[in-house]
Amino acid sequence: LKKALLALGNVLSPDEISTDESTRLSYGQDWTRFSHPDPEVVLRPRTLDQLQAIVRLAIEFQAKIVPSGGRTGLAGGAVASHREWVVSLERFKRIEPVDALDLSIRCEAGVTLLELQEQLRNSLWHWPVDLASKGSAQIGGLLSTNAGGLRVVRYGHVRRWVQSITLVDGTGNIQVLNGELDKNNSGYNFRELVIGAEGTLGIIASAQLKLTRRPRDLLHVLSPLNSIGECLELLAEVRNSALDLEAFEFFSKACVAAVLQNRADLKSLPEANWYCLWTWDTATEDPLSCLSTQPLPGGSLVATDIEAKDLWAYRESITESLALRGWVYKHDVSVPPRQLSSFVKDLEILCAKIYSEFEVFLFGHLADGNVHINIVGPRSVAAEEFLRECESKNADLYSLVKAYSGSCAAEHGIGILKKQELLLTRGPTQVEWMRLVKASLDPHQIFNPGKIFDKSAELHS
Ligand SMILES: Cc1cc2nc3c(=O)[nH]c(=O)nc-3n(C[C@H](O)[C@H](O)[C@H](O)COP(=O)(O)OP(=O)(O)OC[C@H]3O[C@@H](n4cnc5c(N)ncnc54)[C@H](O)[C@@H]3O)c2cc1C
Repeated sequence: LKKALLALGNVLSPDEISTDESTRLSYGQDWTRFSHPDPEVVLRPRTLDQLQAIVRLAIEFQAKIVPSGGRTGLAGGAVASHREWVVSLERFKRIEPVDALDLSIRCEAGVTLLELQEQLRNSLWHWPVDLASKGSAQIGGLLSTNAGGLRVVRYGHVRRWVQSITLVDGTGNIQVLNGELDKNNSGYNFRELVIGAEGTLGIIASAQLKLTRRPRDLLHVLSPLNSIGECLELLAEVRNSALDLEAFEFFSKACVAAVLQNRADLKSLPEANWYCLWTWDTATEDPLSCLSTQPLPGGSLVATDIEAKDLWAYRESITESLALRGWVYKHDVSVPPRQLSSFVKDLEILCAKIYSEFEVFLFGHLADGNVHINIVGPRSVAAEEFLRECESKNADLYSLVKAYSGSCAAEHGIGILKKQELLLTRGPTQVEWMRLVKASLDPHQIFNPGKIFDKSAELHS
């Protein structure tokens, strides 16, 4: 390490290299909190030249690199617990002006989603990605996880809004993936491979992001409902109307109870088993006439965009409220939306059986068929024991997901937590293809080892 630190000291200033315990501990973990962080060093470069030099030194010293964003990841992708070098992009903060011809904006990887939103606040255009972790999640992390979030029903995942990526690759060279082209059918598309690769194929330094017109007026509705079937009926009705749906979220009454315990400032909601929070773009419709033609379920609360913060607080405070309650083990599954009603019924029966000692919270992005299953256990149980207990039930849970032709990771990615489930749901052949791709693009195997898949991928029985 001494030699490596000396070499790093030639390219980074002292405040860009940290080996002290508290920095290592905090930069070595993300929101999952189950692994013991133990990186060798935390590096916080400011320039592309420094980033490139770090990768070349990692190759020379056979070090492993964990690219690090806002560390809000929920699958352990940014965890460093095996003496890796954490390379944080938090000082890559430059945002260029909007390119009005191309409708795009270039920004560096360490810009947070909120910073980008602030930059575009007074513009006609916006980058239509939105999630509750926006204050910390960075562009590099959002691209590397192909994040989903609250607006997927209208705009799709992050991948649809990326034009170009500047990447430091596994040989320490800089690659511009796609450049400024809108149309480019010239062979394999490496930009698409890097998006969602969870930092296993290189370090994203910056990106050109595509923009779209910001909706002018949004209307938000929180509807109390009694069954997932009723939620889906409402979704079908709204989708078949002239309205442009921006978001359609759902959460259980247990989630509302947890949020209310944490947020004394929020009022209680009308009694129901489920709540749908949905938003539509009223640009082409007068909101009031829309409302009068919509058969809103009884007890629905309606808010304009200015008043919407309080309604969204019920949905956006769930993750943080559960984290305050105890240990949280997260599943992030998706099934075809058509099957959701029957899936959730089977899921509730299964959860009552296999997690009888814990609390279960269901919420997510209804229109995308995406259910977040959060299992909460008391802090009086050791974290490792809780993790082991939850993992021992995964075979049962993912057999159900597979029976519904679902995915084990709708939007959070695989990281270190869902490797076995990836093997089960995607199958060994496709995981082997992933290993072959990594071996080609990261020949020294320096980027994020042990994430998404292990060196040799075997399904444990
Ligand atoms: C309250 C809360 C709500 C959330 N809601 C959602 C949601 O609705 N939808 C959703 O999809 N996710 C959600 N998440 C998960 C998380 O916010 C996203 O996965 C986000 O994209 C992670 O960004 P980050 O900068 O924190 O990345 P990190 O956690 O730091 O890293 C994530 C992965 O990306 C890699 N990485 C980071 N930066 C780079 C880079 N520059 N180059 C290469 N690889 C890099 C890391 O190695 C890691 O594998 C939520 C999390 C929280 C805490």
